[in-house]
Amino acid sequence: MTEALAWRWFDETLDEGYRLGLEIDRVIIESESSTQAIGLYETVKFGRVLTLDGVIQTCERDEFIYHEMMAHMPLFAHSGAGAEALRVCVIGGGDGGMLREILKHRHATATLVEIDGGVIEFCKTHLPNLSAGAFDDPRANIIVADGAAVMASDGPVFDVIIVDSTDPIGPGAILFSEQFYADCKSRLAPGGILVTQNGVPMIQGDDLRRSVGYFAKYFADASCYLAPIPTYFGGFMAFGWASDDDQCRQVTEDVIAKRVAAAQISTRYYNAEIHRAAFALPQYIRTLFDGT
Ligand code: SAM
Repeated sequence: MTEALAWRWFDETLDEGYRLGLEIDRVIIESESSTQAIGLYETVKFGRVLTLDGVIQTCERDEFIYHEMMAHMPLFAHSGAGAEALRVCVIGGGDGGMLREILKHRHATATLVEIDGGVIEFCKTHLPNLSAGAFDDPRANIIVADGAAVMASDGPVFDVIIVDSTDPIGPGAILFSEQFYADCKSRLAPGGILVTQNGVPMIQGDDLRRSVGYFAKYFADASCYLAPIPTYFGGFMAFGWASDDDQCRQVTEDVIAKRVAAAQISTRYYNAEIHRAAFALPQYIRTLFDGT
């Protein structure tokens, strides 16, 4: 590639041996927060793309798949779905997309624990459609702190904990540790569900194997579910799933469909069929952690 063309491409080189390139129309901002380098690019195909320390965090074109799948899967699977006001905690998630989806559930409340207040302010200004006003919702409680420290401390319990973290490098590394998962368990109410951003198994299979192995030490049910997200290169993305209620992962399509209809939530990816199908794991992913 010539020098003249090189500036037009954002290259993510998160893992060895491959790179993901997005053609950009314009660099909107490249700056430093207190903990991370923040980049925002207008891309040709994927809309605005947010990066932290050179790694893609979210992009306008496909963020709905990621945020809907992390929020609605546990919220509709929980035994109290539709009957109780679910108390949800998001660890990370400073762009606000997860908060937006959780608060579509009329009776949910959400505590968001983000280590970098700079990401929240940046996204409110430059990616307002992601949070769509969710930061100002009276049901949202925003805490700027290390999620691992908050989970390790005494405090209220939650029905669902969603770990919307960066990858297991930098400040996000601790959010993939055994101690962190044990601490999350202590902050879950009976029947609670933990879901985690667990990377693309084709590329980051070892991370998924490790996380699900840790879940299995502390929870009766430990697995993952899948969704394809184009800008997380390499096929399916995995979301870790851990709960002491092993029925949550088995709720039927009919029951989920009734819960979704009653909630009157509009989505672009998630629906009851997708909910059931997302738990089906190809052999190359199953064998990572259940040995079958
Ligand atoms: N979709 C995402 C991805 O591509 O990995 C995650 C997006 S979200 C922006 C990730 C957030 O996790 C970042 O804003 C980052 O500051 C936050 N984060 C990283 N480590 C954290 C920690 N220890 N406690 C709380 N938040 C953390």
